[in-house]
Amino acid sequence: MHIGIAGVGLVGRVLALNLLSQGHTLTLFDEDNAYGDKPAGMTAAGMLAVFAELESAESIIFDHGQRSITLWPDLLEQVGIPEAYQQKGSIITAHPQDYKELDHFIETLKRKVKEASEIQLLDRRELTQLEPDLEQHAKAFFIPQEGQVDAQRFMKASSDYLLSHANVTWHEETKVDAVEEEGIIVDGKLHTFDWIFDARGLGANEQVKDLRGVRGEVLWLDAPEVKITRPTRMLHPRYKIYIVPRPNDRYIIGATEIESEDKSPVSVRSSLELLSAVYSMHSGFAEARIVNMVTNCRPTLRDNLPNIEQNNKLTRINGLYRHGYLLAPAIVEKALNEGISKM
Ligand SMILES: Cc1cc2nc3c(=O)[nH]c(=O)nc-3n(C[C@H](O)[C@H](O)[C@H](O)COP(=O)(O)OP(=O)(O)OC[C@H]3O[C@@H](n4cnc5c(N)ncnc54)[C@H](O)[C@@H]3O)c2cc1C
Repeated sequence: MHIGIAGVGLVGRVLALNLLSQGHTLTLFDEDNAYGDKPAGMTAAGMLAVFAELESAESIIFDHGQRSITLWPDLLEQVGIPEAYQQKGSIITAHPQDYKELDHFIETLKRKVKEASEIQLLDRRELTQLEPDLEQHAKAFFIPQEGQVDAQRFMKASSDYLLSHANVTWHEETKVDAVEEEGIIVDGKLHTFDWIFDARGLGANEQVKDLRGVRGEVLWLDAPEVKITRPTRMLHPRYKIYIVPRPNDRYIIGATEIESEDKSPVSVRSSLELLSAVYSMHSGFAEARIVNMVTNCRPTLRDNLPNIEQNNKLTRINGLYRHGYLLAPAIVEKALNEGISKM
């Protein structure tokens, strides 16, 4: 089939990779260029936090998350970067005054899914065996099943792959006016296809009811004095912060969560909170260099859950909120099984 996809962010790319594997021909439209930073998928830390996200999410997130974790390695292999996938568990810790909160957090996860019984309590010695650089923490939990995708590498490698694929036409810097059952409308002109996907994230807000943006801010630090190797969360009564290690001593520190569609630069308050939290976690961050500060908005529906809408030969996928990397492969698989693959 000849398929049109509006929006080549995270969902659009995962869709494109799946559809190419099935032998289809694709025409892609995005208002950004192929290497631009508009997609939320370009800002994300790429954590695959199947358990840690459960505290404030439904168990459906857990089921789709577990499925996605099995699908990511093949997607990354397809675009030539299998090493951009890491699954060696994650750490959650807190300051001593917040240990009660930490215990409560883990108890909540255990009440939600039985698999959370595999979460391990670590004392200082056990933690130091896993992560020698976290020796100042006397207590933590280890979640063996969690992992991460190097989001920025995935975005770049998928652009390279799609741009060089013979069955792909990518209209960059091309804003879509609307996506209808009849086709994709650009500059008032209708482009028709055998099947259409709307994967515009927040850009679909005129056509997807109750879609809102949730602002998130992240900092990129280069910290040669810090050697943390796994995604690590610090539980704090006012904010949840995480440190996600990337190659070459780089760490992504995130993320704020603010009910606003404001994509303006990172605020002083957010940067102070994020930076003081990482410094309190490891004093080696004192001499880190701030190499980037990024803001974006998570496309979010009223119930904070993802949604697939099928109408004849049009499929809309949206609302991946703070779980895009965790959910996209499984949600796309579900959408294809319920829609185009039935044909
Ligand atoms: C700070 C932050 C941290 C995050 N961290 C994580 C994490 O650790 N783990 C995780 O699982 N998820 C994380 N996420 C969430 C994840 O990034 C999103 O859920 C995901 O990117 C949503 O995918 P999407 O394809 O729907 O939207 P996007 O990735 O935003 O893509 C939408 C695309 O549509 C294009 N577009 C929009 N409107 C138009 C138009 N009119 N015409 C043409 N093109 C258009 C845009 O240019 C963009 O390329 C994070 C998000 C943020 C903001």
